[in-house]
Amino acid sequence: MTESSTFDGVLAREWKESFEEIFEGAVDESKPPLKLFQKAYDGAVIATSYAEILLNQALRRYGPDHPVAYPDTGYYLPVIRALSGEAVTKLGELPPILNRMRNQVREELTFYNARLCGEATAYAAEIIEVLRYLNGAQPHVEPWTGFLGDPVVRRYGILLVDWTIPGQAVIVGKAKSTEALAGLVTDLQSKGFMIFLTYEVVEQAIEAGLKLGIDFIAFPTGNFTQVIHAVNYALRAGMAFGGIPPGERQETRDYQRRRVRAFVLQLGPSDEVQVAAHFAAIFLGFPVLVDQELPEDEQIPNWYISHPNYDDMIQVAMEVRGIKLKIVDIPVPITVGPAFEGEVIRKGDMRIEFGGGRTPAFELVEMVGEDEIEDGKIEVVGPEIDDCEEGGSLPLGIVVKIFGRKMQKDFEGVLERRIHYLVNYGEGIWHMAQRDTIWMRISKDAAAKGFKIRHFGDLLVAKLKDEFPSIVDRVQVTLYTDKAQVEEQLARAREFYAARDERLKGLTDEAVDVFYSCILCQSFAPNHCCVVTPERLGLCGAVSWLDSKATYEIDPTGPCRPIAKEGLIDEEKGIWQSVNEYVYLNTNRSVEECSMYSFMDRPMTSCGCFECIMAIMPEANGVMITTREYPGDTPCGMTFSTLAGTVGGGIQTPGFMGHGRAYVLSRKFIRADGGLARLVWMPKELKDFLGDDLRKRAEEEGLGADFVDKIADETVGTTAEEVLPFLEEKGHPALTMDPLM
Ligand code: SF4
Ligand code: ZN
Repeated sequence: MTESSTFDGVLAREWKESFEEIFEGAVDESKPPLKLFQKAYDGAVIATSYAEILLNQALRRYGPDHPVAYPDTGYYLPVIRALSGEAVTKLGELPPILNRMRNQVREELTFYNARLCGEATAYAAEIIEVLRYLNGAQPHVEPWTGFLGDPVVRRYGILLVDWTIPGQAVIVGKAKSTEALAGLVTDLQSKGFMIFLTYEVVEQAIEAGLKLGIDFIAFPTGNFTQVIHAVNYALRAGMAFGGIPPGERQETRDYQRRRVRAFVLQLGPSDEVQVAAHFAAIFLGFPVLVDQELPEDEQIPNWYISHPNYDDMIQVAMEVRGIKLKIVDIPVPITVGPAFEGEVIRKGDMRIEFGGGRTPAFELVEMVGEDEIEDGKIEVVGPEIDDCEEGGSLPLGIVVKIFGRKMQKDFEGVLERRIHYLVNYGEGIWHMAQRDTIWMRISKDAAAKGFKIRHFGDLLVAKLKDEFPSIVDRVQVTLYTDKAQVEEQLARAREFYAARDERLKGLTDEAVDVFYSCILCQSFAPNHCCVVTPERLGLCGAVSWLDSKATYEIDPTGPCRPIAKEGLIDEEKGIWQSVNEYVYLNTNRSVEECSMYSFMDRPMTSCGCFECIMAIMPEANGVMITTREYPGDTPCGMTFSTLAGTVGGGIQTPGFMGHGRAYVLSRKFIRADGGLARLVWMPKELKDFLGDDLRKRAEEEGLGADFVDKIADETVGTTAEEVLPFLEEKGHPALTMDPLM
């Protein structure tokens, strides 16, 4: 009781002064929506009572010391962790928390109390849900996702950060018809939204044949309190990317409102518990649109809105939420959006394929002069899709000519790599790899909608101009499908690739005068700043030095700025006065010094979208690396998720650091700490991914090509005890190097 009143007292005062201001004046005090508040109150009572019943059952059965956890997360019960800071691990810790929440469910019908009812309902739902995961149970079958683990939260980090995903739409209930739901979801997907579905809309979505699941950024969480998984996802994004400390309730909500940009669409009638859940959304700063006719005194302007018309429902939700999209008109007969990037087209669903070892195929971006290009021209040289049998293949050469006043030869590769994403965003189009190893497919569905080979050209012209307005003035695309022509052009393309590789080889940190910053992730991690050098790409793996240079050319006021290399302080560790100053000023004065080549001493900060995390392994006097793709245990005793919770959020953590996959191959890889020779463990998948390049690097370092075989992986073991004998047997060099600490 004392605990709960202090808790309420302190925080209530604080948020009235800042975050809570956003609710001021929303309700007309002369006629408050009492019916709505009553439902929220009743719903919160039902939800907390139900949670209590289930919790008591579990306690009787298993006792207070029984462990309670969601799978694959370092954030405990994320709603509770984010809002009150408690790190719940045992059943017995839950009753006082639930009691505290019940105490804040108050009968007096005000907007303020309705929001507290919402918060209590969120806690109740989180507790009800986590009980379903007791004893390692997996309560959901596909396509239902249930709780989404941290790897899924992080997987979309960069897309959330750069607003490719403009927000989160939480759709609850049952739509007027399957078609109506399909219309809403398709619209959201073409706009790039992350979508959560709960209750009957899931069945409707399945019936409509919509693309659902983790790969499509459309999560059918479940049927009831599973809607909480949309909330605990959003709250983890705040802790992971925003560096919001657990328990900062006010800061958490402020972050949610400003960065996560979610809204709720309630379809069909709602019961009391659903209304209470709506107020949980409002509590976090998310507005709710309802498709039912509601009298004015059951609505709250800007927060609880009746909008029965589906045609512009999303438009209205976006306006209320302040989400503006840049609309690009792409003249292709398919939907284009990031939701389709992960789409796989199986052989049976395929109308036609190109490359992948079956036919010669390649892509090339080439900078040309003003007179060598006809803007917007698209040409198919050879057979079109209709000339090819169903399920068959054709050779394909994609040659994109670009003229731009600020275009540079160096940007050819940058733009060429974008082809993968731009094409993959098309629904029913699949693209893999790059250069002369590409493999592409067009699905039967896309072909039935009228998609032709020439549409690759339409897509590329529209998107390249849209994404790179200041370096791309004119685009021309030629699609070769005639075998002889493809082979002729391929030989020419290989000359380009070879010249580019030569240039990249010479591109060392020493060879340039400027590094670049990237602060794109500050939209999510306010104190994070990447310093991108030729030999160290951004930790997300998506931003190389050339990329950041191009980004700066495209938008000099954008996320990447040049940092002149001046005032060398420590050559070995890679510390420069100018870099320090830049980082200090651009991390809200939180990081004073930063080394480029050490993970032990003042390492670079880590936001949340790192491809890999390295961690010191003191027993082996070395370093281990794990990746986002590898879910298992590691010799430092932590999984990727747990490690990510430690290093993320834009802080410096000596001994731990997020980094890109390709950084392992850099000649500057933790050079000051001993370099590649320190590497004692990594997942097998990463080892395979780096492949021969890693062997070459090892040789270059004088470690011998067989050094790679001395690096342990999960097939050797996932604990220090398992790994050490292996390292000793193989004579791993780290064991005899200077002590790391
Ligand atoms: Fe974020 Fe760094 Fe990647 Fe930029 S380079 S997007 S700041 S992780
Ligand atoms: Zn990031």
